[in-house]
This record gives sequence, C-alpha cells and structure tokens, in this order.
Amino acid sequence: MAGPQQRPADSNTTLVGVMGYPVRHSLSPLLHNTAFAALGLNWTSLAFEVAPDQVAGALSGVRALGLAGISVTMPHKDEVAALVDECSPVATALGAVNCVVNREGTLRGENTDGAGFLASLARGAGFDPAGRRCLILGAGGAARAVALALAGAGCADLAVVNRTAARAGAVAALAGQVGRVGRVDDDADVAQADLVVNATPVGMTGTGAQDEGWLVPPSLLHRGQVVADLIYAPRPTAWLAAAADAGAKTVDGLGMLVHQAAAQFELWTGLPAPVDHMWAAAAASARV
Ligand code: NAP
Repeated sequence: MAGPQQRPADSNTTLVGVMGYPVRHSLSPLLHNTAFAALGLNWTSLAFEVAPDQVAGALSGVRALGLAGISVTMPHKDEVAALVDECSPVATALGAVNCVVNREGTLRGENTDGAGFLASLARGAGFDPAGRRCLILGAGGAARAVALALAGAGCADLAVVNRTAARAGAVAALAGQVGRVGRVDDDADVAQADLVVNATPVGMTGTGAQDEGWLVPPSLLHRGQVVADLIYAPRPTAWLAAAADAGAKTVDGLGMLVHQAAAQFELWTGLPAPVDHMWAAAAASARV
C-alpha cells in the first residue's frame, strides 16, 4: 500500500531537519515527512550534514532561517546540549539533546530517546518497568537515555554491565538509588532480570554468534523475560533471534527509533503523531 503523499514545498512550508555527521543514513526525514504527509501539514524535513566545527553555526542557522526545530544525531548530541538556550530536565540530566525546538528564536534542547524506548517496550511487549528488575548492556549515549527512562518509570533495580566498567558506573549513577554496576560474569544478574537491554552496537554487522562478542550469551536468557535490542538493522539481530528461541519476548530497535521521532514530531507541531504511518514507513525501509 502506498504511503501518504507529501505535498510539494512552497514559500509557506515550515522547515525542520536532522543534523549529524554523517547523516545520509538517517531515517529521520522519512519518518517526519511521512507524518507531515499523513496529517496534510505543509511541513518538510531535510538532512543536514554538519561537520564537527560547524555545530554552533548550524544552530545559528536554525534561528536565522526560522526552522521550527531540528533533530540531532551523532556526534552532535552533547555539543548541542551545551549550545542551546535552555534544556529540558531530561536533556539536562543526560547532557545530550536529540531534538531542538525553536520557539520564536529561543532554542530548547529536548531528548526523546528514553521516552521512545519506553513507548517501544509498551507497544512491543506490553512491558511496564515499574517495580521490575532491569539489566542494560553498554554504557554509551543510548544506554544513558534508557537508564534514566527506566529509573524514571520506577524500576526496582537497574544493573549496568559494560566492557569498560568505569563508564557503567556513570550510567548506573543516572538511575539514582536503584542503579548499580552489574557483572558480566554474574549469571544471577541476567537470570533474575525481567528486562535485558542490549545498548551496544554488537550485532550490527549481522555476522552471527561466534563473531559477535555478546556481553551476555543468549543461553542465559529465558522465558518470562523481555529482551530488547536497540539495533534496528539487521532486524532481528542474531542475539534477539536467539533470545526468542530461548522463550523470551523480544523488542527490536525499530520501535525506539519510531517513537523517539514521534515524540519529536509532537514537540514541534503540538499534534499527536500518526505513529502507525511512521511505523509502516520505518518497517518498509528496514526491509530494504
Ligand atoms: P556509543 O555511545 O558509542 O556506546 C557504545 C557502547 O557499546 C559502549 O558502552 C561500548 O563499550 C559498547 N561496545 C561497543 N563495542 C563493543 C564490543 N565490541 N563489545 C562490547 N561492548 C561494546 O553508542 P550509542 O550511541 O550508545 O549506541 C549504542 C547502540 O544503540 C548502537 O547500536 C546504536 O545504533 C543503537 N541506538 C539505537 C537507537 C534507536 O532509536 N533504536 C537510538 C540510539 C542508539 P565501552 O564503553 O567499553 O567502549
């Protein structure tokens, strides 16, 4: 089925975009343009490849050219947090911005990654973190967003396991009293977790179990758990497929991608996002 038709841009078009480096792989314009078309809005999103020494200039451009906002992807999330006029509490806690909203020249930094992850858990597995035990693998930017979101949603325990232990401590600290550093070699941390999240890029190459260096072997996963992977291509990852074979409920990274973009759409337009249309566009693109 053909997706909604985007109207041609004209002199009244409201412009948003995504900035990153590189950025040509980004699905942001596709997701946002699909949403604009679905609601018949005269809005357009473009991708802007912004070199690392041009970030401040790009933000001045957002203000000067009157873009309604801009998505921010790697490697600019931290720098943008330091450059915008104000940040939401979540963006402040993470020190990272994935969405800028331009309100009459005041640039506000937001971060929708964690909310997108929670929405993907709810949609993909009906999982509510409140009172549950969670385990995160990895301690990069995505792990930070997920940790803050899970703690904010009231999880009872949050263990963070990472190749570099010092970084795991920083992520666990974001979760406050429920956060702690887990141990790669402690099978109990895995066995007792209600939710296990892979927030490392291990599995993106899709080369199979032997080459992947998983922090947690899928043989430790079991029925009754929800297992999430933030990677959305390949879909599913070999690790997630093995988790499903072990009887776990699985959630891949496409939901987080769609829902964080939907939250950005809502911040920019003030309208409920047409999430089903965005899902269809993302799923079709991920199949390519
Ligand atoms: P990042 O900041 O570079 O962090 C990567 C983390 O993975 C670090 O903790 C790193 O450990 C660990 N790691 C990297 N290679 C490893 C390996 N071979 N073995 C074990 N650990 C390894 O990356 P990020 O931005 O957090 O992204 C992480 C993943 O999430 C990526 O796959 C990304 O595509 C995905 N993601 C998905 C979405 C979505 O919407 N679905 C959003 C954001 C990110 P060290 O600290 O030891 O280096």
